[in-house]
Amino acid sequence: MTHALAFIEISASGEIRNTAAMLIAAAAQLGTPVAVVVAAPGTGDAVTAQLGALGAAQVYLAETDTAGSLLVAPQLAALEAASAALQPSAIVLAHSIDGREIAGRLAVRLRTGLLVDVVDVRSEAGNVIATHSVFGGGYTVEATVPGGGPAIVTVRQGAIEARADATTATLTTEAVIVDAASAAVIDAVHDAVVATDRPELRGAARVVSGGRGLGSQANFALVEQLADALGAAVGASRAAVDAGYVPQTSQVGQTGITVSPQLYIALGISGAIQHRAGMQTAKTIVAINKDADAPIFDIADFGIVGDVFTVVPQLIEALGTRAE
Ligand SMILES: Cc1cc2nc3c(=O)[nH]c(=O)nc-3n(C[C@H](O)[C@H](O)[C@H](O)COP(=O)(O)OP(=O)(O)OC[C@H]3O[C@@H](n4cnc5c(N)ncnc54)[C@H](O)[C@@H]3O)c2cc1C
Repeated sequence: MTHALAFIEISASGEIRNTAAMLIAAAAQLGTPVAVVVAAPGTGDAVTAQLGALGAAQVYLAETDTAGSLLVAPQLAALEAASAALQPSAIVLAHSIDGREIAGRLAVRLRTGLLVDVVDVRSEAGNVIATHSVFGGGYTVEATVPGGGPAIVTVRQGAIEARADATTATLTTEAVIVDAASAAVIDAVHDAVVATDRPELRGAARVVSGGRGLGSQANFALVEQLADALGAAVGASRAAVDAGYVPQTSQVGQTGITVSPQLYIALGISGAIQHRAGMQTAKTIVAINKDADAPIFDIADFGIVGDVFTVVPQLIEALGTRAE
C-alpha cells in the first residue's frame, strides 16, 4: 500500500488544529496515513501520540528553527522532503488559508496536479479520485490527477465525517533546511480571531446563522443564544454583515467562509445562491423563515415557516428542558 501524507497545521501555541482528524482520515482512504508536522527542534514529539490516536500510522516530524518565522517556506520544504522520502500517492491539506497557499506552491514544485476544495476522496485502480461540490452545491463532480505524480488535495473543513482507527504512530524525525533568503519573513503575528468560547466557524460541527430577517444588531443576540444552547458556532449572511449585525469574519457564503457542519440552522436567511455556496454541503439543514417561498426551503431538510422571534425562544426553551 502506498503512503498518503496529511499535512497537520499547528497553532501558534503549539496545538494541533482541529482539521487533523479529518485529514488523517482522508489520507487513510488513499493509503497508509502519514502525518507531516513542522516544529522547532525538540518541541514536536508531544504531538506523536495525539496523531496516532487520530489514526496516523507514522508521524514525519520536520524540525526547523524557522517554523514560526518564515511564511509557509518551512512547511513546503518539509512536505517536499517527506514526498521525496515516501513517494506518496497523495498529499492532503486543509482548505485553509495556509493549506491553500502551501498546496499551490507544492504542486508547482513537484510538477503535479492540484485538487482544491474537495469534499471526499477515494482511491480507484491506483488513482486518487476527488469529489467537489461546485456551483453553489448544485453539481457534484469528480476529478483526478493523471500522470503518476502525487495528487495534492485540499479538503473542505468539516466535509469528511469518517475517522481513522486509533493506532500507535512510529516517529521519523528529519532536520529540514530552509533557504531563508528566498522566503517571506513573519515580522509580527496579530491574532485576528475575536476571543470566544464558541467553536471556530470554519470546521464547526454545528452552525447557527442569522440573516437580515433578524432586523438589528441587538436582535442578533437571538442567534447567539440558540448557538450557545447547541454548542454551535455563529454564522451570518452577507446582508447581516453589511447591516453591521456581526463582523465579516462570520459571513458564510461565496465571498465568506465555506462550512460543512453536521447541522446548519438558518434564521431569517432567504437562501440566495451566494449564501448556499458556503453551506449547501451541511449534512442537515434547518431553516426558519416567515416566507414559505424562501429559496432556503428548497435545500432544507427541516423547515419551519414562522417568525424567528416566536419560534427560536421556544426552541431554546425546549433545548433547555432536554438538558435538565
Ligand atoms: C458577488 C456576490 C457575492 C455574495 N456573497 C455572499 C456571501 O458570501 N454570503 C451571503 O450570505 N450572501 C452573499 N451575497 C449576497 C446574496 O446575494 C444575498 O443578498 C444575501 O445572502 C441575502 O442575505 P439574507 O438572506 O440575510 O437577506 P434577505 O435576502 O433580505 O432575506 C431575509 C429573509 O429573512 C426573512 N425574514 C424577515 N423577517 C423574519 C422574521 N421575523 N422571521 C423569520 N424570517 C424573517 C425574509 O422572509 C427573508 O427571506 C453575495 C452577492 C453577490 C452579488
